[in-house]
Amino acid sequence: MSDNDCIFCKIVNREIPTEFIFEDDDFVVFRDIKPHAPVHILIVPRRHIRSINDITQDDKDIMSKFFFLAKKIAEQEGIARSGYKLLFNVEKGGDQFVFHLHLHLLGGWK
Ligand code: 5GP
Ligand code: ZN
Repeated sequence: MSDNDCIFCKIVNREIPTEFIFEDDDFVVFRDIKPHAPVHILIVPRRHIRSINDITQDDKDIMSKFFFLAKKIAEQEGIARSGYKLLFNVEKGGDQFVFHLHLHLLGGWK
C-alpha cells in the first residue's frame, strides 16, 4: 500500500529522484537530505507503515530485516567498527516528521 501524500512513498516509487545506496524487494536505502552525522542513512521499507506504533505480528519479518540490513550498510559504509546509532523516531513527540516508518543509521564520527 502506498500513501499519495507520503514523501517516502514517492521516493520508493521513484516519483522523487533519489540515489539508492541499496535496494531489494522489501527496502530502499538512501542518504538523509539534511544529515545529522557524517554518515546519515535512512532505511525505509517499501510498504507504507506509519510508525512503530502501527507494526503488527505480520511485520515480524520486516522488523528483523531492518537490523540485519543496518548492520550490512554500516559495514558497507566503513563505520561498523568505529560505531553508529540506530534510531526510530515515533510520532510527533518523538520527532517523527515523515510518517512512513524508517530507521536512521548515524555514524562516521572521529
Ligand atoms: P524523522 O524526523 O521523520 O524521523 O526523519 C525524517 C528524515 O527524512 C529527516 O532526517 C529528513 O532530513 C529526511 N528527509 C525528508 N525529506 C527527504 C527527502 O526528500 N530526501 C531525503 N533523502 N531525505 C529526506
Ligand atoms: Zn509512505
